[in-house]
This record gives sequence, structure tokens and C-alpha cells, in this order.
Amino acid sequence: MSSPPTSSTHKALPILAARGLTKTHGRTQALRGASVELRAGEILAVTGASGSGKSTLLHCLAGIVRPDEGSVVYAGQRIDQLPEKRLSELRRTEFGVVFQFGQLIPELTALDNVALPLLLAGTARKEAHERAGEWLERFGVRGQEELRPGEMSGGQAQRVSLARALVTGPQVVFADEPTGALDSFASEGVMTALAHTARESGTAVLLITHDAQIAAYADREVELRDGAVGTGADTVVEVSR
Ligand code: ADP
Ligand code: MG
Repeated sequence: MSSPPTSSTHKALPILAARGLTKTHGRTQALRGASVELRAGEILAVTGASGSGKSTLLHCLAGIVRPDEGSVVYAGQRIDQLPEKRLSELRRTEFGVVFQFGQLIPELTALDNVALPLLLAGTARKEAHERAGEWLERFGVRGQEELRPGEMSGGQAQRVSLARALVTGPQVVFADEPTGALDSFASEGVMTALAHTARESGTAVLLITHDAQIAAYADREVELRDGAVGTGADTVVEVSR
């Protein structure tokens, strides 16, 4: 009997790998030799105390910030030294990003917010809106198309943000405390939708959280320790499940 497809299907291959990352902000060393691997199709939770360097690690992996030292390899290609133009192209086509406060565009409706990355990539308006509507449906916010961010609940706004991050079919979604501003009921709804949708589409997710209940949605968990004030050894520790 064949088992149903799960995210373990592609698990062997790392799609994204960071080695020995260091990053200093002014006088603060946010990362000191962090290494982490994200396997294709997996949901990886990165946990750690506030200030341990989680967001800095995500920014380095997503090509938003360049590390001072170390390497970031995406799909076999080193990306940390790519020229800015190629890096932004990569971010636009291969990656999706969600932050704690969805960072939707306040003037645009839910549908237009989700359609925007497609429009920027040159998709025709009608098709962009159709696909945006499908992704709103997947995230359980069909019927909210015409709402602007100020008219949504926090949970609705994060569902719309996730739809926007996934609408272009990225290989990797980076989520930095995506439920950090939500109550536990809304958090569960958002995480269930994210985990289900990512598994269905085979998208790998790097999920930053300091909440064990949220980390439990992941396939695997690593903990970042003392990114700023550690002892200098590898700062990422695999957490056994
Ligand atoms: P986390 O997401 O785990 O809370 P961060 O990566 O945001 O950790 O921050 C790690 C450390 O780097 C913290 O001490 C933080 O204050 C510092 N830091 C992060 N970003 C900046 C910045 N842009 N300028 C100065 N310090 C920063
Ligand atoms: Mg952070």
C-alpha cells in the first residue's frame, strides 16, 4: 500500500544551506558561525530567545542581508555574493516572505495585495486576480477580497500575507514570527493553513518562532543560541523531537 505524499517525499536534499554565518550590527554580533540546512519541502522551525539572531539568520538566508562571513547556497548555487540585481530577481521568483505584522499595503484590498507580486512579474491583470482569489480561498479568506488591511482581523491579515507569499509558487517561504501578534486561536488557524498549504505545494518553510506550540507544526526544529553573546561555537543546535 502506498502511503500518502507528505513533506518527507523530498526530504533528503537541502534546498538552502548556510555555513558559518557571521553578522555584526554595529557592536552587536548577531550571528557567530551559524549553520543551518533547509531540506526541500520541509517545514523547519528556528527557535531561540529574543535577540539570539533569528531574524538576522532569516534575512541572510533570504538574501535580504549579506552575511559578513560564511556562505548561503540555494539549489546548489552560492547566493550570498550575487550582485543585487540577481539577488532581487531570485527573491522575487524563488522566495516568499512573511513578517510578524503582515506588512500588507494598506491602500490595497486583500485581492490586490495578493495579486501584486504576480502583476510585478508581468502576469496579466485578469489572471493575476484569478490566481490571487484561489490563494485567498486556500488560506480560508475567500469572501474577504475587498477588505483593506485596516478592516481585517490580525488572523485574516496574516492569511492574506501568506497567500501573497505563496501566490508566485516560491520554493521557499520565510516566515518571521508569523503568529507573533496573534492570539492562540488565530495562531492555530494561521499555522494549520500554512502547514497544510506548504505540504500540498511542496514549498519549504523556514519558520521562526519562540513559541513551542508554533514550532510543533514543523517537521524539524533547530535552536539558535547566543547569536549575539555566545561562546563562539556553532550557534545552531538541533532539537530532538
Ligand atoms: P531575534 O530575531 O532572535 O530576536 P535579531 O536577529 O533580531 O534576533 O537580533 C540579534 C541581535 O542583533 C540583537 O541583539 C539585536 O538587538 C541586534 N540587531 C539586530 N538587527 C540590528 C540592527 N539593524 N542594528 C543594530 N542591532 C541589531
Ligand atoms: Mg526577530
